[in-house]
Amino acid sequence: MIAASPDVVVPFQLDKMPVRGRLVRLDDLMRKIIAQHSYPEVVNRYLGEAVALSLALVNCFKFDGLFTFQISAAGPLHLLVVDITREGHIRACARYHDDQLKSLRCEDLDKVQCVFGAGHLAFTIEPQVGEDRYQGIVELTGTTLAECLHHFFRQSEQLETGIIVASQWPASTSMVAGALMIQRMPVAALEDSQEKEEADDGWFRALSLLGTTTSEELLNPTLSENVLLYRLFWEEGIRINSLKPYKAQCRCNREKIQGMLENFDELSRKEMVIDGKIEVNCEFCGVSYTFQETDIRSLIKRT
Ligand SMILES: [Zn+2]
Repeated sequence: MIAASPDVVVPFQLDKMPVRGRLVRLDDLMRKIIAQHSYPEVVNRYLGEAVALSLALVNCFKFDGLFTFQISAAGPLHLLVVDITREGHIRACARYHDDQLKSLRCEDLDKVQCVFGAGHLAFTIEPQVGEDRYQGIVELTGTTLAECLHHFFRQSEQLETGIIVASQWPASTSMVAGALMIQRMPVAALEDSQEKEEADDGWFRALSLLGTTTSEELLNPTLSENVLLYRLFWEEGIRINSLKPYKAQCRCNREKIQGMLENFDELSRKEMVIDGKIEVNCEFCGVSYTFQETDIRSLIKRT
């Protein structure tokens, strides 16, 4: 039996039709992100979905910078952020109202409209130099995050896209999160109506194959990526491309936090002092940075 690799993003394409895709499966990486926080189970599940979707999406756009996926909403889980650097470093965090989450009924935990409420989903690509910032934004419309994404792709005239996502937490016997996405690539306009019809039929066939994939298959650690993909698309001539490595890693450091403190005015900074120290916790990775009063005084003197 060939076991699945713990964390992979597998790009692939189909030879018999202009379709490309990617399969994302996450285990150790997601466990590390979850361990950095102490979120409720339902928040961890949505965090898993958001990271898997972000990794499926990250190369859809002309990408050369920091990619951010953010949901801001008015409901119990009101903020969810994932960011991915061009080096493949991922971090994620969430904010939620615990009492509101606890009062949700079990059957409502799978519904975006109950867990997040009204809100929107935004993708941002912040280039390192030069180019303009890209932002795509869409209202949270749909019962699942995958449905919200379909809505985004339809609305923003991006490529036709099919996407499924699954996440499990606690995950004692399964992987934590997975996503499978396919996109129809642009081709020269087909004059012949029969050719056009065949091309459309091909795309719908690929979509219906995608739809047959279950959450159990996506998250099954004994089912390898290759077996999963070949089973689905062998008739379409699937070609698997090389894997891209990603890891869970935060970008915070002492200098950055110090720079942030320097940007506050003196009064706000003084208000942060507790027992002669300012303590700052990174919301993404939970690491805590302590600045002594002497450090703070030198910060104040410099500004
Ligand atoms: Zn951090």
